[in-house]
Amino acid sequence: MTTILIRGARILGGAPSDILLRDGAVAETGDLGGAKADQTVDADGLVALPGLVDLHTHLREPGREDAETVETGTQAAARGGYTAVHAMANTSPVADTAGVVEQVWRLGQEYGHCDVQPVGAVTSGLEGRQLAELGAMADSAARVRVFSDDGKCVSDAVLMRRALEYVKAFDGVVAQHAQEPRLTEGAQLNEGEVSARLGLTGWPAVAEEAIIARDCLLAAHVGSRLHVCHVSTAGSVEIIRWAKSKGWDVTAEVTPHHLLLTDSCAERSPLGPYNPIYKVNPPLRTAEDVRALREALADGTIDCVATDHAPHPVEDKETEWAAAAMGMIGLETALSVVQEAMVETGLLDWAGVADRMSARPARIGRLAGHGRPIEPGAPANITLYDPSVRQPVDPAAMASKSRNTPYEGLTLPGRVVATFLRGRPTVLEGKLV
Ligand SMILES: [Zn+2]
Repeated sequence: MTTILIRGARILGGAPSDILLRDGAVAETGDLGGAKADQTVDADGLVALPGLVDLHTHLREPGREDAETVETGTQAAARGGYTAVHAMANTSPVADTAGVVEQVWRLGQEYGHCDVQPVGAVTSGLEGRQLAELGAMADSAARVRVFSDDGKCVSDAVLMRRALEYVKAFDGVVAQHAQEPRLTEGAQLNEGEVSARLGLTGWPAVAEEAIIARDCLLAAHVGSRLHVCHVSTAGSVEIIRWAKSKGWDVTAEVTPHHLLLTDSCAERSPLGPYNPIYKVNPPLRTAEDVRALREALADGTIDCVATDHAPHPVEDKETEWAAAAMGMIGLETALSVVQEAMVETGLLDWAGVADRMSARPARIGRLAGHGRPIEPGAPANITLYDPSVRQPVDPAAMASKSRNTPYEGLTLPGRVVATFLRGRPTVLEGKLV
């Protein structure tokens, strides 16, 4: 198959247009009435977006293949409209050497559902004691540019400074999981009224904000690039806004769940109180935080949406709150949640969604082949999305190996109909190819 003709797609929500894909690239757009192709895809009423890019995915391989594998995680990504995901380093063994990142990268290439760009650990074994082999990972076949101890915070200011200095040599970025460890010992839920009523140890906003403020100052001091993972509080937004106003090279992401859900889910939800499906790190915050995060994503203070897709097997989630693992899956619902939180509220149009879920994350991760506008000459990484349907979320229908979605039973808008990776369909009619 060398040519595919997509008929009548609304590129970024605009007027209907045909899109001809040839040899992995966009060949032509516009009214291509008489054009012929090996395959034609009817996209009447569908929105065409550049293939989505995730800066924050946990694929769990190597080490926790009972939760997810590169194969199932990238299938979930393709089903969610993604053509590239960044695989976090907190695997077992940790992705802290050229060998491990190349292994993960090669598995992504072999399966071919979407590009897998490994993230390298900042410190050896995520132990926060000495820097990992950052240069070797950058020079490897995986060409690592994003480094993160995600799951853990690089809390030592000297190590953080050294990492920021080191990655400048290869245009890398340090992606920080901002969590002051001493302030969050035993933390279970956002520190506030709900945690007090439920008797759960609080995770205070200041534990995130203090690290973000410190890291913005450090990044400015050494002239390096900082990315802030999963921003969750209104105060964090203020700090990032301030750092950007100074011209510092700071970027940030927000997760879909922090754009939609609040800590009150732990108290009352269709799934009952104390349901650990809502246990996540950083925790769900307040309605006021949600409002600030949405506004920050709309005005560009927060650059992008990143899923923090965190699969866990049933036995690690369906237990009492205090013992349950933190995290939720998100690849297959991200676009629907963003439509619900940002598009249907009038905060973003489809061009804005493409910018926040494709162009900007690709730029932050330095993925040259992704996040490009749908125009002749660009790699044919495209998602076709039907925003007009509403359907209940069904975990059993998901491609992910895990089922820990907080949206079970919730009705969300939209459906990914097709995904193309360099002109090859990975999803057609909502199903994996
Ligand atoms: Zn994290």
